[in-house]
Amino acid sequence: MPELPEVETVARQLDPLVAGRRIARLVIRDRKLGHADRGRVAGTRILAVRRSGKQVVFDLARGRRRTPELFLVVHLRMTGRLLWVGDDEPSPPRARAELVLDRGRVAFVDTRRFGTLRLFDDAGELAPHGVEPLSDELTAGRLAALLGRSGQPIKPWLLRQDRLVGVGNIYAAEILFAARVDPRRAAGSLSRAEVRGLHRAIRSVLRRAIECCGTTFSDFQDARGRSGGFARLLAVYGREDEPCRRCGGSIARIVQQQRSTFFCPGCQG
Ligand SMILES: [Zn+2]
Repeated sequence: MPELPEVETVARQLDPLVAGRRIARLVIRDRKLGHADRGRVAGTRILAVRRSGKQVVFDLARGRRRTPELFLVVHLRMTGRLLWVGDDEPSPPRARAELVLDRGRVAFVDTRRFGTLRLFDDAGELAPHGVEPLSDELTAGRLAALLGRSGQPIKPWLLRQDRLVGVGNIYAAEILFAARVDPRRAAGSLSRAEVRGLHRAIRSVLRRAIECCGTTFSDFQDARGRSGGFARLLAVYGREDEPCRRCGGSIARIVQQQRSTFFCPGCQG
């Protein structure tokens, strides 16, 4: 499932391709998407494409206005992709929807069909409930307050979208390795120094993953159909029994809340 860095990559790559373009029409091919008020989208201009939580947001305006008044919001879920397609290129197979622009178009391809496409009038409605981990809002103090006295193990805690948005299974494991925190520790048991280290790790791991355009895994491809480059930098995720790059010990895999957790028992004591 695409996590924050993958969604950020999609938004960053689409933005320069489509910002300023006018939407001729929204073609919905999969009825499961609903009709998404597609008539209201036609004739608007794309001001920007950005990420909000794990969603890709198209800021839309009518005429020459510069403030967005309509928001087309795509959640990629498991297998969704947004692909830029040039005028002379054929549509990708199994596109569930297509945003036809005055030049080129954006195809929403999604084999498992869990993704959604919705329209909002108010930016406030689409804002995620958790804190954006790369925003100024997430200070070490704020993180400590969020962790509170939670007895939940820190790894599943990091996946909670009502606390931090956008962190999924891959980056939660990488963040805890970087912070040298055992994934089984109670979230509320971290010392102040450990919280500061976790805060640094959250931001550095996510920023680095964005620089690498996300991680390669089976279904994620960025807006031009390439895969991310973070996979070779993964320290623990998917590396069960392989040697830790820091201490040489074996990477372990455990299951927490039905999800695999990879960590180094030597470094994350
Ligand atoms: Zn180690």
